Amino acid sequence: MPAHDVLIIGAGLAGQRAALAAAEAGASVAIMSKVHPVRSHSVAAAGGINAAIAIDDDWTEHAYDTVKGSDFLGDQDAIEIMCSEAPGEAMHLEHIGVTFHRNEKGELDLRAFGGASKKRTAYVADITGQAILHVLYEQLMRHEATVDRYEEWFSTSLILDDAGHCTGAVARDIRSGAIEIFNAKSVILCNGGNGQCYKPTTNALICTGDGISQAYRVGAPIMDMEMVQYHPTTLAENGFLITEGARGEGAHLLNADGERFMENYAPNKMELASRDVVSRAEQTEINEGRGVGPDGQGIYLDITVVPRKRVLEALREIVNIGRDFAGTDITREPIMIRPGQHYIMGGVKTDVDGRTPIPGLYAAGEVACVSVHGGNRLGANSLLDTLIFGRRSGEHAAARGTDMAMPKAPVSRLREDTTAIEEIMGRPREGRRVSEIKDELGTTMNEYVAVYRDEAGLTKALEIVRRLQEESAKAYIDDGGRVFNQDVLAALEVGYMLDCAEATIVSAIERKESRGAQFRLDYPERDDEEWLKHINVTRGEDGEPAITYSDVTITQWQPEVRKY
Ligand SMILES: Cc1cc2nc3c(=O)[nH]c(=O)nc-3n(C[C@H](O)[C@H](O)[C@H](O)COP(=O)(O)OP(=O)(O)OC[C@H]3O[C@@H](n4cnc5c(N)ncnc54)[C@H](O)[C@@H]3O)c2cc1C
Repeated sequence: MPAHDVLIIGAGLAGQRAALAAAEAGASVAIMSKVHPVRSHSVAAAGGINAAIAIDDDWTEHAYDTVKGSDFLGDQDAIEIMCSEAPGEAMHLEHIGVTFHRNEKGELDLRAFGGASKKRTAYVADITGQAILHVLYEQLMRHEATVDRYEEWFSTSLILDDAGHCTGAVARDIRSGAIEIFNAKSVILCNGGNGQCYKPTTNALICTGDGISQAYRVGAPIMDMEMVQYHPTTLAENGFLITEGARGEGAHLLNADGERFMENYAPNKMELASRDVVSRAEQTEINEGRGVGPDGQGIYLDITVVPRKRVLEALREIVNIGRDFAGTDITREPIMIRPGQHYIMGGVKTDVDGRTPIPGLYAAGEVACVSVHGGNRLGANSLLDTLIFGRRSGEHAAARGTDMAMPKAPVSRLREDTTAIEEIMGRPREGRRVSEIKDELGTTMNEYVAVYRDEAGLTKALEIVRRLQEESAKAYIDDGGRVFNQDVLAALEVGYMLDCAEATIVSAIERKESRGAQFRLDYPERDDEEWLKHINVTRGEDGEPAITYSDVTITQWQPEVRKY
C-alpha cells in the first residue's frame, strides 16, 4: 500500500507546483494524474500569467483590478497574497527555465489583458501554460528520490478516518484496472475544474469536476459555484478558445453592422473590459438580432487590425486553430466567435494555505475556491492562482506531516470502490448510455445556466439534472474490460459532473441578484445589502445540497459601482 507524507491528486500547474514545494520542504510526495501530467488542461493555457513587474506597476493596482474584476465578491486578504507574491513567482519561473517573451531591449515583455489597468501579462507566445508545465515537470524529475509519480491513475474517492481527518484516497491504475489505497498524512486536491458540465466548452475532456465532487461527498463545503465564466471569444462551431491575447494585441469585436459595439457597453476599456462584461455585451448583440453567421449566433473578432508580423510571432497558435478548425486565415479576415463556457470561479472552499475545513484535506488551483476570483476571474489570473496557492498548499501540507504518524485506512474502503466499479460494468445494456447523459447535461447547462439566467430556466435545469442523476445510476457502458477502460471512468465522471452541476444551479437559484458572471434577468441589479456574501453548498444528511453563507473579506477596497 503506497504511503506518503503528501498525496497530490492532479498534475496540472497547481499539482506540480504543490509537489515541488512539498518535496523542497523535505516531504515524501505522491503525485497522481488520470492522464500524463503534461496533458493536464493547464497545457492549453495560452495568453499568459499576471504579475505587477513593470516599473510603473504595483501589486496593489493588480489587487484592485482583481477585486473590481471579481465584482467585489473576491476575498481581499487572499487577493493581496496572490498579487503581492506574483512578481516573485514569475521571477522564480524565469529562473527555473520558462522562456518568457522579451522585448527588443531584452526586458520581460508584458501584454494587455482584460480588466487590467496596466500591461501586466507575461507570456510565452500563446503557449504559456505548456511552457510552464513542461518546466515544472523537468524540475520534478530532479526530486525522483522523494516524489513518486502515479501517471494514468484515477482517484475514485477520498478516505476519512473516524475522527473525520482525511488520510488518503482510493485510486485505480488505468493501465491494469488494479485498485489501491493510498495512505497519506495530507491530501491536496489539484484536480482542475468542471467545464465538461457544459457543451460546448473550451475545457479538455478531463475537466469533469472529480475533485470538487469527491470533496463534497465527504462533507467539504463548495463555494461560489454559481460563478461560471463564459469567455468572450470561443469558436462558434466547436467552443475552441481564441485567447484573450488577441484582444490584448488590439483585435476588435464587430457586430453584423460592422460596428465596434463595445463602445456602447464599456467605452473606456472597449474589448478589454472584464470577461463577464464583454460576454454579456456579445450575447445582447446576438439576442437583439445583430449577430453574424448563418444563424446570427456569432460575433466577428477582427485580428486583421494587428500587424501580421506580430500575429505570427505572438499569436501563432490561434493562427493554426483558425486555419484548422474554422477554415479562416485570421491574418486576412475576421473570425466568427461567441461566448462559451471557459472557467469556474467556484470550487472547494479553502483558506490562503489551501486548507479545507476537513483536517488533512487541501485544495489548490481551479478545483479550489480561495476565493481570489469572486464573481469573475480576470484573464491570466488563473495560472497565477494555481502556482501561488499550489505552492502554499504544498509547503503547509509538508510542514503538517513532520511530527505525525502515517495513518492507515481499513481495506474495506477498497472493497466499496471495487464493488461500485463492478456494478457499473455489470449493468445490462438497456436504458441510456453514459455518453447520452453527459450530452444532455452539457446542452442543458449551456441553455439555462449560461450568460443570462432566470428562475424559470434554472428550475427547469435543476429538474433535468435530478432526472439525469437517476438515469446515470443505471446508465450502461460498452467496455467490459480492465485495461484502459475509459468507459467505466466516464461513468464515474458523469456522477461527479452531476454533483457539480446541481451545486451550480442550486447556488444560482439562491443568489437573487446580478453580480459578475451571474446575471439574473429577474434580478438585474447587484444587491450588496443582501448578497455581498459567499454561497456555500455542503451535502446534507439526506444527500441533498444544503446552503450556508460566509462573509466576503474586505481589507481596503469598499464595493463601488463597477464600470469599464
Ligand atoms: C483553453 C484554455 C486556455 C486558458 N488560458 C489561460 C491563460 O492564458 N491564463 C490563465 O491564467 N488561465 C488560463 N486558463 C485557465 C487555466 O489554464 C486553468 O484554470 C488552470 O490551468 C487549471 O490548472 P489546475 O492545475 O488547477 O488543473 P488542470 O491543469 O486542469 O489539471 C488537473 C489535473 O487533475 C488530474 N485529475 C483530475 N481528476 C482526477 C482523478 N479523478 N484522478 C487522478 N487525476 C485527476 C488531471 O489528470 C490533471 O493532471 C485557460 C484554460 C483553458 C481551458
